[in-house]
Amino acid sequence: MRVPLRNVLWIAGLLVLGSSVWGQDLGPHFRKIKDGIYVQTAMDGNSNCGIIVTGEGVVLVDSGHNPTDSREVLAAVQKLTNQPIRFLVNTETHGDHTTGHWVFSPPAMIINGEGAGKGMRDAFSATRMDDLRKQSPEMAKASEGYKLITPQIEYNEKTTLQVGGKTIEILRLHNVHSEADSAIWLPQDRVLFAASATGPRRLNNIRPTVNISDILAGVRMMKALNPEVVIPGHGAPGTTQMFDEIEAYYALLFERVGAKVREGKSLDQIKQEVKMPEYASWAGQDRVPNNIEAAYRAVRGRP
Ligand SMILES: [Zn+2]
Repeated sequence: MRVPLRNVLWIAGLLVLGSSVWGQDLGPHFRKIKDGIYVQTAMDGNSNCGIIVTGEGVVLVDSGHNPTDSREVLAAVQKLTNQPIRFLVNTETHGDHTTGHWVFSPPAMIINGEGAGKGMRDAFSATRMDDLRKQSPEMAKASEGYKLITPQIEYNEKTTLQVGGKTIEILRLHNVHSEADSAIWLPQDRVLFAASATGPRRLNNIRPTVNISDILAGVRMMKALNPEVVIPGHGAPGTTQMFDEIEAYYALLFERVGAKVREGKSLDQIKQEVKMPEYASWAGQDRVPNNIEAAYRAVRGRP
């Protein structure tokens, strides 16, 4: 049977289009977001890692959840391009976004907000690496050569990269999650990496240095950019709907905690009495008391 050439070309075209649209050639852990923008995502709640490919080098967003994820990102970059990884921008300081730095740097230059290096050094734990190595022979192998690498470049409020015709704005988020948090905005593609200020339908662990009012200010700033795609620090990429949902969640939490404060209840009583059943399906339910405590600080006007 003779297949007309145009059918062969059509099928070949579909295959090329298919693999480039869904990023299947990179394996099941990767999603293509837009031309030249990929993300390693949806791996059991692991952190997301962004890959931005340009004609003059690659920019990574975070370095993978753990060493095997980092090695997988490196292999994906090598499939996509023979360009070097020139920059690695961190959305936060925690190990599940930064441990893999040594896999990429040098040559990549690492960027995050002021205080990021100190935050990473203060929180450094050799035990965490030992625990990782014990997880599996694969993890032990992927961890070979590990050393702590902190950002070589720290910025203040905002900095902009221009790489191969791509504009990459790095915007400081204050007190939203770690010692230094950055949103990464690609205005030409309208893609936003939103750090761990929020995640789709998940409750955050709100540390004592974080306050909800600052999270909400960060969320409003990011929403005002009017992104088409929002990639959170953890969880599936989506839209600004995840911002709307977290705003509604905190508004209700403030309302309920505020009412109890006005009744003169103590923090312990409020933790017992305030329930958030509307959000029972969100991940991180064990963080409700932690969220109530943060709302209590905010409602009483303390950072
Ligand atoms: Zn974190």
